[in-house]
This record gives sequence, C-alpha cells and structure tokens, in this order.
Amino acid sequence: MEFQTTLGSEVTFAGMGVHTGVKSRLTLCPAPSGSGLKFKRVDLPGQPIIVPTAPRMNGVHRCTRLGTDEVSVSTVEHVVAALRGMEVDNCLLLVDGPEVPILDGSAAEFVQKIQAAGVVEQDSPRRVLQIMEPVWVSQDHKHLVALPSDELRISFTFTNDKKHKALSDQFAEFVVTPAVFAEEIAPARTMGWISEIEELRRRGLIQGGSMDIAVVMSQDAILTPLRFPDELVRHKILDLIGDMGLLGHLHAHIIAVRAGHQINAMLAEKISSSVESYIYSRP
Ligand SMILES: [Zn+2]
Repeated sequence: MEFQTTLGSEVTFAGMGVHTGVKSRLTLCPAPSGSGLKFKRVDLPGQPIIVPTAPRMNGVHRCTRLGTDEVSVSTVEHVVAALRGMEVDNCLLLVDGPEVPILDGSAAEFVQKIQAAGVVEQDSPRRVLQIMEPVWVSQDHKHLVALPSDELRISFTFTNDKKHKALSDQFAEFVVTPAVFAEEIAPARTMGWISEIEELRRRGLIQGGSMDIAVVMSQDAILTPLRFPDELVRHKILDLIGDMGLLGHLHAHIIAVRAGHQINAMLAEKISSSVESYIYSRP
C-alpha cells in the first residue's frame, strides 16, 4: 500500500511574479492527511483559502491562475508540478501576494527545498486519480489524449510551427517518478522573449542585465545557455504536470501535441467532470 505524504518541515521562497511584477513570499507547510494542496492568501483580509479544482482553473496567457477575480493566485504550475513530481500529497501553500515567485523559471529550487525538508509518510492510504477510459481534447492543431495507465507517463511533441531559426521540433517522453522529475524535468526553464525581459527591466522589476528568470529568446536566436538541448519540450512537460497536478495524484499516459496551459485546462476539466467514477484508493 502507498501512503499519503506531506513535507517534513516548512520551506519558504521569495521573489517576483513574472506576470504581475509583484514580489511575494511563498511558504510550503506540512498539512494533514486528506487535505490535498491548498493555497492561502495571507495578505488578504480573512486569509482566504484557494482550493485547486479544475473547473476554477483559468488558463490565462501563459500561466495558470486559480481562484476568482477577487481572490486568486497566479503562476501556480511550477510549484504544483514540484509537489506532484516529488509525490507530496498534502501541503498548505501560504502566499502573501497575487502570484507565486518565478525564481529561475524552472522548478529546480522548489525541488531542492522539498528534498531538504523531506517527504514524510502519513497514516492514510494515498488516493490516486485513475482514468478508466481514454479522455481527449483537441483545439486547432493542439491535441491532448489521456490513456489509462498505472503510472504517470507523458509523451510530448513540440513542433516549431513558427519556424524560429534557433528551434527545432522536439519530442520527449518520461515516466514521472521523483528521481526522473528532479533530474530530467524540474531544471527546465520557461521561455521568454527578450522584449518581455526588457519591459521588466524598464519597469525596474529586475536588476541590470539580469536574464536569469527564463531562457531568453530573440526573433532568431536563443540568448541563454541551455540546460538541456530540448529544454523547451521538457518545460512544457513540467507545465503539464503542474496543470494536471491540480486534479490530484494522477495516473495516466498523457500524449500531448503542441499543448499549452489553455488546452491543459480543458483536459483537466474533462477528467474532473467524471471524477467520481475515476477516484479510487490504491490497494
Ligand atoms: Zn511554465
């Protein structure tokens, strides 16, 4: 039997949100069995709790936002991916602003601190979200298929449709275990355009020549040394793990072609709409 887990101790992160430019602190706290992943906006009156459920997930622009127009938290996907990737079932995430810090644009620091805090077993059996039949969504030329599986496997195809000179088509496939997540997926950073970085610098939100919040691209080149030749598709897998991780501890083989946050949210909604019949306690 697999048991639920939480963190061995609290860990804290601080930094800027890449979309709002607002600095925030994020503290991951141990949480009781059965509580799942929940955010708490500690800067707002009454410290409202935001529970990640797929129907309330909004794919906006290039990040995933939870909550309502009044009470929300943005860019949750990298920290949720880190918690799911490291198989942490229960965690209370305290955040004192509207957006999770971007850090270096990857999940590496989240994983390092989760490993340092330790992942500890609790006394209840783990609940696994297991799909029983194929579920799929398509939008334009983007496709996501979730097949029944007794593990989380992701097969992702990125196609260089805009013919960027420094990019190529990329394919990667991983069975997501904590070791694979920590070594192969978590270090992959988000991509950002040099124009976006210059805008953040113009607004005084990042230091001098700092470009260490993303892999920075111009119209015809990649300006940041890469951590993996296929860092782009690995980060897309990271985002997909985070977006699907909002549903729970998912076992499925997800085949993704050109997927992004918007279609990820559509698949998550479709899976969660029949969630009653899909959840079971793993024997
Ligand atoms: Zn991302």
